[in-house]
Amino acid sequence: MTDITEQPQTSHGKRKWMYPVIRKGKLYHYRNWLSYVYLILFFAGPFVRVSGQPLLLLNVMERRFVLFGQTFWPQDFFLFVLAMLTFLVCIVFFTMAFGRVFCGWVCPQTIFMEMVFRKIEIWIEGDAKRRRKLDEGPMTREKIVKKTSKHLIFVILSFLIANTFLAYIIGSDNLIRIMTEPVSLHVVGFVSIWVFTLAFYLVYSRVRELVCTVICPYGRLQGVLTDKHTLMVAYNYKKGEPRGHIDRKDPTAKGDCVDCGLCVDVCPTGIDIRDGAQLECVNCTMCIDACNQVMEKIHRDLNLIGFYSEEMIREDKKPSFTSRMKAYSAVIAVLFGVLIYFIHQRKDVDVTVLRAAGMLYQEQPNHYISNIYNADIINKTDKLQQIKLVADDPDVKIKYIQAPGILGKESSTRIVFFLMLPQSKIHAAKTDIELNVVEHDKVLNTIKTTFVGPYDED
Ligand code: SF4
Ligand code: SF4
Repeated sequence: MTDITEQPQTSHGKRKWMYPVIRKGKLYHYRNWLSYVYLILFFAGPFVRVSGQPLLLLNVMERRFVLFGQTFWPQDFFLFVLAMLTFLVCIVFFTMAFGRVFCGWVCPQTIFMEMVFRKIEIWIEGDAKRRRKLDEGPMTREKIVKKTSKHLIFVILSFLIANTFLAYIIGSDNLIRIMTEPVSLHVVGFVSIWVFTLAFYLVYSRVRELVCTVICPYGRLQGVLTDKHTLMVAYNYKKGEPRGHIDRKDPTAKGDCVDCGLCVDVCPTGIDIRDGAQLECVNCTMCIDACNQVMEKIHRDLNLIGFYSEEMIREDKKPSFTSRMKAYSAVIAVLFGVLIYFIHQRKDVDVTVLRAAGMLYQEQPNHYISNIYNADIINKTDKLQQIKLVADDPDVKIKYIQAPGILGKESSTRIVFFLMLPQSKIHAAKTDIELNVVEHDKVLNTIKTTFVGPYDED
């Protein structure tokens, strides 16, 4: 892989502004459709409701996360960590097997840049040649109109993206409140929207491909995650070299590459894939489409640039499923299994019961012994819960000092209660007791605690 210092630059060492040519081939159309699905999901995500909850909410401040309508609380944090770990292992495995294809096909940066902002730029300023001419030309009336309209649309779009992004963090209801209520009530929210808007606008109007080639840490990891078995966008130098124009007298004198340079013209990061695998390649596959169009015209085999591993090109081998890939697949399967198990085991109502500190037991009338307990009850659902505690053992009586009552949706409460046991039923220093958390005869959770009391050693 080439070094980061090999960023496309001018002869003065300045950044080279990209004017990628768009060649619509088969893969471009697939990306296009994928981006439509992606954009619909992105903009609908915080507003679509599943069981009264958003599809996705990542409220980091309150440590509340919603995934497909399922709310995860700080108490479920280990599930969140497990899900993140599974996600990370999937990314590592996916990168090992398919390189940086995530970047070119599903990364929000590429989708918004290439499938939204770039299209608007082309619509207003024209194709690559016209855009370059407009930028290099003098400040005419046409240039002012085109540039102003483009940047105005960019700001509006950035504003929309910033609002949606914020809705994923604070929830759509809070966002609507910020938008409809006086600014003085939501100064932080209001400022955040404009800070995000400015950030998105700068990213899509100025920073652009530098996010992928310089800033993104995932891009920098490619060197360690990929190996000679990794499938990635690559130039088949064995078929392509020696490159050059077709020799009409001896068409076999040269390789398939006619050195037209189209694969470089279409590259949004400005690299020449014929120089070998490079960190700057986001696997957007634009060069595959462009080269295939050339190959079709000159009646040569397609996929001179295609999805190849180094091993496939060098040793003419088929793609291989290496032992490293098998090991990762096994780890992913185990992680998914554990994650699904814990999600399935997750209760709608979470309860923590602790015997009150500093008190052993109390003697009650009719030869009963009591212990006093505190319990924290969390309702993780979006509906009211009228719950009560019921002991598994019919000999155990429960007397509330502070009863649970009706528990509001997504809220918690603390209750205080006595557990009472006939002294004749106490046979050890600690007696295990099971308590069911019940709502209308439905057991929502079962918890274990211990009961202390005097007992006869004989
Ligand atoms: S598009 Fe294909 S033929 Fe043209 S320069 Fe690139 S690799 Fe060679
Ligand atoms: S080399 Fe090809 S796949 Fe890689 S970024 Fe450039 S156009 Fe996209």
